Amino acid sequence: MQVKKFDIIIIGGGILGISLGYFLTLNSDANIVIVEREKTVSSHTSSRNTGKVHAPFLYDPTRKKIFAKISFLGYNMWETYSNKNKIPFKQDGVLEIAKEEKDIKVLKKYMEWGIKNGLEEKDIYFLNDQETKTIEPNVLCHGSIYCKRDASVDYGLLTTTLKNDYLLAGGKLLNLHRVINIKNKNGNCVIEIVTENREKKIIESKYVINTAGGHSLDIAHKLEIGLELFDLHFRGEYWRAPEEYEKLTSHSIYSVPKQQNFPFLDPHWIIKADGHCEIGPNAVPVFGPYSYNSIDNIKNFLPKAKEILFKKGLWSLFYNREFLSLLTNEIAGSLSKRIMIQRVKQFLPALDTKKITTKGTAGIRSLLIDKKGNFIPDTLLLKNSTSLHILNYNSPGATGALPLSAMIVQELINDKLINKVTKDNQVWNIEDIYSKIKF
Ligand SMILES: Cc1cc2nc3c(=O)[nH]c(=O)nc-3n(C[C@H](O)[C@H](O)[C@H](O)COP(=O)(O)OP(=O)(O)OC[C@H]3O[C@@H](n4cnc5c(N)ncnc54)[C@H](O)[C@@H]3O)c2cc1C
Repeated sequence: MQVKKFDIIIIGGGILGISLGYFLTLNSDANIVIVEREKTVSSHTSSRNTGKVHAPFLYDPTRKKIFAKISFLGYNMWETYSNKNKIPFKQDGVLEIAKEEKDIKVLKKYMEWGIKNGLEEKDIYFLNDQETKTIEPNVLCHGSIYCKRDASVDYGLLTTTLKNDYLLAGGKLLNLHRVINIKNKNGNCVIEIVTENREKKIIESKYVINTAGGHSLDIAHKLEIGLELFDLHFRGEYWRAPEEYEKLTSHSIYSVPKQQNFPFLDPHWIIKADGHCEIGPNAVPVFGPYSYNSIDNIKNFLPKAKEILFKKGLWSLFYNREFLSLLTNEIAGSLSKRIMIQRVKQFLPALDTKKITTKGTAGIRSLLIDKKGNFIPDTLLLKNSTSLHILNYNSPGATGALPLSAMIVQELINDKLINKVTKDNQVWNIEDIYSKIKF
């Protein structure tokens, strides 16, 4: 079998893999290929999300260091990239509200985090209940944070545009090629891939970057990296609101989460980049990262059940208080569409549950837990001498994909794994971005 050789192989053509390819082709002379199992890039989470360029006030600067920094830097970068390519970047701001008096304390903490994470005082305000009413008359709450520096975009479209830039700069893309195995051999990575027609191929490189989203842990495990970690998948299902609700609010509305570590479980009211509104999510535990429907979910049942039964230490999950409370209080409560909408009606009472009947976006979050059953709060960058694995890359992952990728490419240059070559059409200086993130 003929073996094709590259300098760098990126596994996964989501927003992160494509952003990495973009910065690699513009800043080095390396021969790069992105391997993507689907027909088009951004087929999974990178298109199936809420489309927010998240402001960093939700991220604890000590526990979520990376997410906090890349979320702050992502805003200007996506704004610049969208304007350059005439793609909508709607700076529409966001409201985080206190449903109960006790939530005000949390909002004050978010204000502090926001400033620590780089926001300026002109970007973020605390509003009491009456002040909130002046900008959102239909919202009931005890107070809110209004953050101007938050925007709505179409990440699927942004990823496709970046992919075109990557290809123009000389990057290669293998679509409908799925990585099934990866090994180290004589200081190189040897990757086995299978095509749509079940043809097997081998490709090889000096370095591999694993950005396979919901499958990234499985790939890391093949190289015996992150063996102590386990992943759980949750399908977030949104419902599309009828047109008559499109003027109900001028901003997307989130509420202080019941469980601070799982803000994605608390239902919110979203205005998407094209103006339509969605409400959600229902958070449904599923067996795999692409379990969008019951048939796909059943297919993933056996492998996941086997993993749960035989994974050493996993049973400690069922003694972990945070996990048990998540399972019994939060997930059980968010399975039902009626209960989920009821929770949104607490702050948007004008909604009529009977009118919300059309399914909207559904995307799957893959959360990592450690051997004690604790959820990992930040993204994890695990590496050995021939590979880098970006794991637990959840929200605000789309917001942070450009700055994180610029930082990683500069690190590869610093480590002399690739040669620095600056090509024309540079929008950003990656050394500059690296100096702002450096962990
Ligand atoms: C419901 C929901 C809402 C969200 N909202 C937001 C938001 O508003 N703002 C925000 O910033 N973030 C948001 N996020 C998070 C954000 O969408 C993700 O962090 C981001 O899209 C992750 O990108 P990725 O490239 O790592 O993963 P993915 O988009 O999943 O890409 C991974 C790619 O790898 C490919 N792949 C997997 N296995 C293989 C293999 N073996 N061989 C070849 N290819 C493979 C897959 O086909 C896929 O294309 C949200 C997430 C969800 C689920």
